[in-house]
Amino acid sequence: MADPAECTIKVMCRFRPLNSSEVTRGDKYIPKFQGDDTVIIGGKPYLFDRVLQSNTTQVQVYNACAQKIVKDVLDGYNGTIFAYGQTSSGKTHTMEGTLHDPENMGIIPRIIHDIFNYIYSMDENLEFHIKVCVFCAFLLIISKTNLSVHEDKNRVPYVKGCTERFVCSPEEVMDTIDEGKSNRHVAVTNMNEHSSRSHSIFLINVKQENTQTEQKLSGKLYLVDLAGSEKVSKTGAEGAVLDEAKNINKSLSALGNVISALAESSTYVPYRDSKMTRILQDSLGGNCRTTIVICCSPSSFNEAETKSTLMFGQRAK
Ligand code: ADP
Ligand code: MG
Repeated sequence: MADPAECTIKVMCRFRPLNSSEVTRGDKYIPKFQGDDTVIIGGKPYLFDRVLQSNTTQVQVYNACAQKIVKDVLDGYNGTIFAYGQTSSGKTHTMEGTLHDPENMGIIPRIIHDIFNYIYSMDENLEFHIKVCVFCAFLLIISKTNLSVHEDKNRVPYVKGCTERFVCSPEEVMDTIDEGKSNRHVAVTNMNEHSSRSHSIFLINVKQENTQTEQKLSGKLYLVDLAGSEKVSKTGAEGAVLDEAKNINKSLSALGNVISALAESSTYVPYRDSKMTRILQDSLGGNCRTTIVICCSPSSFNEAETKSTLMFGQRAK
């Protein structure tokens, strides 16, 4: 591992527009923006690496939040991009968007296209092996057997039982994402539980070998659409759903603790406190690239949750 001082964590903050039901209810649009890095809520300024206002397009979000990390992964670094925020703040819109629509696609499909365009542009001496893996942490939490975290002989953590495959085209990646989603749907239905609160994790692993020089490079990127960060009490959950909600909240706070330990260059980083941080361990901290996209609602109705989301983002600075 490299010098922890090299660790780069970037925090971006994206506000979605007011939606039609918020407008109908007469909610106010509360954020005020200053420059391209500050948002003011209730008179208090919050500073980030970038603040993306409600009219920011998907391609602008990609350029600001992901383009650089993709380049680093192709240069052999590991990285993670997270979307954090309450339910309906725009996390899935940011990470996935509309998968097959060039204008509205989110970060994940754009990354896939960028990586394959890079591969197609390279000369024939370079051999690429692209592996993707899709899983949801809901299954990690509820089942001891279906999906579990293991370590390989180099102590690199991996998840056993996820949808994993070598891919040769962007279309094959999209198929894997679709399959991962339907597997999750089947599993959730079988458990007789309907939960929308789960982390979705997408991993893309890029290995390159120069067949003439035998030089090898390997980088991987985790793309994480985190479960909604809202407080459990607001959701009126009971029984198994309440237990799951508590687990989700615990794993989000474990993630917050890891990120702030990294931001403070602490000597102890509590990766082992949750399954998700164990999985992400070799792609967070060290000389890895980490970007957190804090997703926020602009509505006065959600002010308290928005402030708590902004505070989570500030812990990483
Ligand atoms: P989350 O994943 O955080 O629960 P979603 O991404 O599903 O939230 O967003 C909730 C709704 O708001 C969706 O219908 C989505 O299309 C819409 N939405 C989110 N962000 C934006 C945006 N920046 N511009 C337009 N619509 C958005
Ligand atoms: Mg979502």
